[in-house]
Amino acid sequence: MYTHVVRVNKESEYRFETGETAVTVTVRSGHAEVFGAEAAVGASYVFAPHTKAAFFTWHGAELAVVGEPESGYVAGETPMPTYANVHGALQTLRGEASTKAELTGPVVVVAGPTDVGKSSLCKILVNFAIREGAAPLFVDLDVGQGGITVPGMLGALILERPFEIETGAPDGSPPLVYFYGHASPGANAAFFERMLDKVAGEARELFALNDEVRAAGAVINTCGWIEGDGLRLLKETIAKFQADIVLVLDSDRLTQELTSTFKDTPSTTVVKLAKSGGVVTRSATFRRSARSSKMKDYFYGPHRDLAPAATTIYFRDVQIYRVGADEVAPLSALPIGVEAAAEPVVVSKVTPSNELRSCILAVSYAQSEDELLDANIAGFLHVQDVQVDKAKMMVLAPSQGELPGQFLLVSDVQWFAD
Ligand code: ATP
Repeated sequence: MYTHVVRVNKESEYRFETGETAVTVTVRSGHAEVFGAEAAVGASYVFAPHTKAAFFTWHGAELAVVGEPESGYVAGETPMPTYANVHGALQTLRGEASTKAELTGPVVVVAGPTDVGKSSLCKILVNFAIREGAAPLFVDLDVGQGGITVPGMLGALILERPFEIETGAPDGSPPLVYFYGHASPGANAAFFERMLDKVAGEARELFALNDEVRAAGAVINTCGWIEGDGLRLLKETIAKFQADIVLVLDSDRLTQELTSTFKDTPSTTVVKLAKSGGVVTRSATFRRSARSSKMKDYFYGPHRDLAPAATTIYFRDVQIYRVGADEVAPLSALPIGVEAAAEPVVVSKVTPSNELRSCILAVSYAQSEDELLDANIAGFLHVQDVQVDKAKMMVLAPSQGELPGQFLLVSDVQWFAD
């Protein structure tokens, strides 16, 4: 096996991308961290195929790299010192909030175009906070990626430990998961907005209930769609979460736009930050396969150590719904000059058919149809086969046993398992 030793000088990082095979990195000496999570000296970290990451060091480190990364180099210029300064400012605010019950720690929204390192910056800020004993709320609104659960959902959790080094998975309280059902906020903007209200409300409730989280505040990841409706939804996000700080990565135009929108909101400060030269641009194909591997992570675990169960579900035992616009008249059906009404947020019952094959079904905690839009999600099922004549379907479930609810929501983000 190909092994080489990489020496990384202070305030530099070893950036690498794995190809078709895994790569193992061990910190032989010194101190290094991955997106702010400290790597233990002597421990071996195995990075799965198609992973992009960096080992950064403040004071110097020696790494042993086993395997054949597709690319790997040491970069001396990184924005980490700036990100550490931002963290320092956030810690000051957290310190103040911990002594005054009427204050909330910093609510930080991370924004910017696609592939500028938004998720990575969120991880860095959360990991830095955890290293200092703070337990911030992490909210992921980037529905295309699935940073907390399967793609297509919104999620929030209180991190108790840093994000996992090898997989980037968050590690903390069981996440609060909210159904959305699309990989882009624009697919059903009205529903996305409604869910923003819901998640922001629950974040405020959490702050009211948990003093530690209140003082630590929140770090909120957003999606990279910042044009038209995407920009509007980003502004809604900032307003609904009452963000104190908006960190904009790599976009003067977005910084300008948000600064001018929130100029009369003195409690919201917009700050532009440089993106890291290590951030890798991902193609549409890569994103699709990343989504697929996130689905696999959910059922089989990021380390592939979970054993999901193939289960049969009879149609009589569940009620399947879709959220959306089924009842909106198609544009062609409207008289000329009449604008389509804003897409109503409705749930409609789905008659099980072969179309459900490969779909992800979210198991809702709802007790009735009326609660469907607001109830949290207990977990997910993957439809593997539908036998309409026998009124049943075969699904993959995280575990054997009774479903935690009978109301299921169909997501538009399908998974074609390999
Ligand atoms: P999206 O458009 O999907 O929201 P993003 O802006 O959140 O993307 P990230 O996911 O943070 O961007 O980064 C893009 C990719 O670059 C990821 O695979 C990440 O692991 C990688 N990356 C980020 N920073 C570095 C770095 N310093 N060195 C190497 N790889 C990096």
